[in-house]
Amino acid sequence: MSFVRTVLGDIDSKDLGVTDSHDHLIRTGGEEVRENKSFLMDSVSAAKEEFGSFLDVGGKSMMCMDPIGCGRDVPKMLEVAEAYAGRGNIVMTTGFHKAAFYDTRTHWLATNKIDDVVNMCALEIEEGMDENSYNGPVVKRTAAKAGLIKAGTGYAQIFPFEKKALEVAALTQQRTGCPISVHTQLGTMGEITAEMLKGFGADLSHTVLCHLQKNPDRYEYKRILDKGINICFDGPDRVKYYADCILADNIKWLVDRGYQKQILLSMDAGRIEYQTAYMKEKNVIAKGIKWLLTGFVPILKEIGVSEEAVQDMLVNNPARIFAFK
Ligand SMILES: [Zn+2]
Repeated sequence: MSFVRTVLGDIDSKDLGVTDSHDHLIRTGGEEVRENKSFLMDSVSAAKEEFGSFLDVGGKSMMCMDPIGCGRDVPKMLEVAEAYAGRGNIVMTTGFHKAAFYDTRTHWLATNKIDDVVNMCALEIEEGMDENSYNGPVVKRTAAKAGLIKAGTGYAQIFPFEKKALEVAALTQQRTGCPISVHTQLGTMGEITAEMLKGFGADLSHTVLCHLQKNPDRYEYKRILDKGINICFDGPDRVKYYADCILADNIKWLVDRGYQKQILLSMDAGRIEYQTAYMKEKNVIAKGIKWLLTGFVPILKEIGVSEEAVQDMLVNNPARIFAFK
């Protein structure tokens, strides 16, 4: 059986269903929160309601992308997942974010030999994620295993810390068969990141580059996809970057050229202000994660993206790409 590793156990990848391929429900600390309080997402009740509203409009699974040291909170995420056991799936990630979120001189990724870091990440996939996300020397493994490995790169730059995290991701994938998902800063460095990962031995068919919509260069998308890696277009409802019509038109342009098997969709609603339930607690209205299905997918259909292509991007591609090898 081809399987996806959720926090409540492995599932047949055929049962993944409509998938938000990069999102956030809980984040209880980390450098992002230090920089901006809107990144603090620590309400289990709001997270439950937001995830439930995604399921209510036809969603089934969510890839939650907070890695080690960035406010990942396994116990709180488990509360959310258990509330929807049998109805919805949550996948969590091990690995690292971009260098800017860490002290790159003293962090254990920087100070340890790569094999030791790979082992620590692989154990999160094979045995269970640390209850405290490796924030200290005491490790308490939970029953929840990671189903993704994350790495991150900077704006138009890849720092040594990030290069090492990419290598860790590739080597951890070789050991465990786990898929990889990479944060790109404003959608830059995608081609070089794909080449580096391939050089480190990653299987690009089980690897995703995220946030490319922030760099709406469809010719670059084509060059990236021609390398065999996948793109997750996240963040519709972010007019401060680009209007949704630009994202929708670029997706259609790629689908028309035969790339629909390599595209994933998500909201990446990584701040409380992007989520309906968190903002409801403040008496503020926001579209929320469900808008991916209720708002953005209808735009794709209206401009002529076929039902079959939408089914690939939301269901068939996640089932194939996020499956363990
Ligand atoms: Zn994100």
